[in-house]
Amino acid sequence: MIIGLPREIKNHEYRVGLTPTGVRELTARGHRVLVERGAGAGVGLDDAAYVQAGSQMVEGAESVFAKAEMIVKVKEPQPNECAMLRPGQILFTYLHLAPDPEQARLLVDSDAVAIAYETVTDAQGGLPLLAPMSEVAGRMAVQAGAHALEKAQGGRGILLGGVPGVLPGNVAVIGGGVVGVNAARMALGLGADVTVLDRDLNRLKQLDAQYGPRLKTLYSTTDALESAVFQADLVIGAVLIPGAAAPKLVTRDMLSRMRPGAVVVDVAIDQGGCFETSHPTTHQDPTYTVDGVVHYCVANMPGGVARTATFALTQATLPHVLALADKGYRQALHDDPHLRAGLNVHRGDITHPAVARDLGYAY
Ligand code: NAD
Repeated sequence: MIIGLPREIKNHEYRVGLTPTGVRELTARGHRVLVERGAGAGVGLDDAAYVQAGSQMVEGAESVFAKAEMIVKVKEPQPNECAMLRPGQILFTYLHLAPDPEQARLLVDSDAVAIAYETVTDAQGGLPLLAPMSEVAGRMAVQAGAHALEKAQGGRGILLGGVPGVLPGNVAVIGGGVVGVNAARMALGLGADVTVLDRDLNRLKQLDAQYGPRLKTLYSTTDALESAVFQADLVIGAVLIPGAAAPKLVTRDMLSRMRPGAVVVDVAIDQGGCFETSHPTTHQDPTYTVDGVVHYCVANMPGGVARTATFALTQATLPHVLALADKGYRQALHDDPHLRAGLNVHRGDITHPAVARDLGYAY
């Protein structure tokens, strides 16, 4: 198969859909890979490494889209990319179609076959191509929060790990899923005093078994949230109710009773956020302060560590890229129901039930 790797064009997107390692796996199996010049430059993967891995460099995205049978990307296609898609061409990338009717229409009109990373499933009921970005965001949340706690950033001047003779900082993590456990792990690693709240008791039992007495777990009620939030130096919002906006668990009133100079990192901001006072921010201007509490609410946190995020994403997507290339999409989707769950648009039809329902398409 001919696989195409265009450079990402969305604002401040530096990740890339295939690394030279992935290209080498594909070319070793007899596939051809066309790489747009500069595709990996933003994360330090230079053209020479792609060529050495067996790919062919091409100038401009048009040449990639015109010749490839499958396009592998990171972000949803922008309108000019949708216009370059060809009937029957496979597009494998994040789509996030449900809230984006315009992109859905363009993909339907393209007559292409669009498989979305975010709806691919696994045998444990997880979303394995979304999880790597939650791992990145969870781990990053602690370093973002630790930085914001410094005086110069508006924080209360707390070192999370403390020092001998001085107590460590207190961290509350709301939601013990993929983001939450990764945040807790980092905060424990720094030596902080960490509590995870979740309303899934089995999840808390797993965390307790995994981390033992170093990690405190708390069943998430309003009482529990108040007691955790009021004594925290850093609160990390990591809840998810699948398919729904994040619940506003920390109200303005609760926030006003937090310690002055405390920090909240609302990782759930991409689902609307779980603090009433949250609004999305950017890597250029990541924080603002409400009632003396510093808010970090960057909606695309992994973009800040694009190189790590590229490796984390591509190691999860590569087996699927190989299956699609080796077998063609029909056989690959037939053989693997979890990959099939990724199919969002097939030759003019929206084929994912939840996406079709949200967008008002017949299914
Ligand atoms: P997950 O499903 O693995 O975990 C969510 C957890 O929240 C679950 O354990 C669930 O039981 C818990 N929860 C639900 N309601 C709760 C409540 N009322 N109190 C306490 N816990 C509750 O999800 P995840 O992958 O960890 O993602 C968490 C959030 O982070 C999502 O909104 C996701 O979209 C977001 N996210 C944001 C970024 C970013 O860049 N900002 C990156 C990755 C993920």
